[in-house]
Amino acid sequence: MNAHPPLTSIQQPVVQVSNLVRSFGKGPNVLDGLDLSIRAGEFVALLGRSGSGKSTLLRTLAGLDAAPAGTVTVPAERAVVFQEPRLVPWKTVRANVALGLRMADAQERAVAALTEVGLGHRLEAWPLTLSGGEAQRAALARALVREPKLLLLDEPFAALDALTRLKTQKLVAALWRAHRPAVLLVTHDVDEALLLADRALVLDQGRIALDLRIDLERPRRHADPGFASLRS
Ligand code: ADP
Ligand code: MG
Repeated sequence: MNAHPPLTSIQQPVVQVSNLVRSFGKGPNVLDGLDLSIRAGEFVALLGRSGSGKSTLLRTLAGLDAAPAGTVTVPAERAVVFQEPRLVPWKTVRANVALGLRMADAQERAVAALTEVGLGHRLEAWPLTLSGGEAQRAALARALVREPKLLLLDEPFAALDALTRLKTQKLVAALWRAHRPAVLLVTHDVDEALLLADRALVLDQGRIALDLRIDLERPRRHADPGFASLRS
């Protein structure tokens, strides 16, 4: 797996979406002229109320949705993790992670990825014998082993209990630092966005309504605008 990419390549966009439109049947446009650009190595959180189209956008970027209207440029190397791990129940954990890999050393890579997520002792386990947290870590290993330039995460912690969620969030942060894919994380949780992401988007009315840079290390020079706007 790759070390950190050179700084120059971190500036390059890996996702370019322009004027994306998607509706279902005769319904209104769920995505309605959406524009979005994500740079290599960026960790982006995507917030928005239920039904605002977050999963539709993610599926489009994953190539799992119908051919969209508009322009969508994404890297070929991309991987998705959903709220449910979606492991194949009749294959071992290792076989799940190696599934579809073409390289000669696929098994070794699967073992390395599973070891990295802390499942080195569960290689030959059946998916249904894993805990929820373990199964989600296996899903992360299955994504990671593909060395994605873009990692799409659709509420991957939502089904986990509080402690497991915290551990899995930390794992995702560590995996991101080690491999530096661009990440698009769909979440309902603002704290989670602040904890993990360096940019937060809010999807509303089919477009990116808010696009905020998050830099919690930066010293505050001005009064907190958040409190000001609460009072006005
Ligand atoms: P979110 O992930 O933000 O909760 P979704 O992308 O799942 O929102 O859904 C956005 C809207 O599109 C919702 O109104 C939903 O009912 C509709 N929708 C999503 N997928 C389908 C589908 N396959 N068929 C019909 N309607 C859909
Ligand atoms: Mg969703």
